[in-house]
Amino acid sequence: MTFNTPRQRMSDKRRQHIFSENCTGHNVAPCCLCGRPIHRHNDRWIVEHKRALALLGKDVNTNCGPAHYNCAQVKTHTEDLPRIRKAKRQQAMNEGTKEISRRFARPAGMVYDWQRRRYVQQPA
Ligand SMILES: [Zn+2]
Repeated sequence: MTFNTPRQRMSDKRRQHIFSENCTGHNVAPCCLCGRPIHRHNDRWIVEHKRALALLGKDVNTNCGPAHYNCAQVKTHTEDLPRIRKAKRQQAMNEGTKEISRRFARPAGMVYDWQRRRYVQQPA
């Protein structure tokens, strides 16, 4: 097996083979993400790993199924990207904490009383 580019790991032959294995009709296979039929020649589709490789899913044909290109995009945007964004938020929080700690840190549960000119316990 030869790889044209690092991004195109799956050969078209294997892709078509996986489609054929999942076929429920002539050149039609259910999308492994939405369950609606994919037409081999009319729809834009990709091979999705049913179980992500990162979650110990195996890179074998039985772990793969055809999916609409759009469904795979949705999966990427609703499952993968929120995780990435969450990680970025946590990173920003950590950086924000560092940023605050460099300045004066207000004691937790305290408010500044301008008349007494000191921090007092926050009224409940
Ligand atoms: Zn679909």
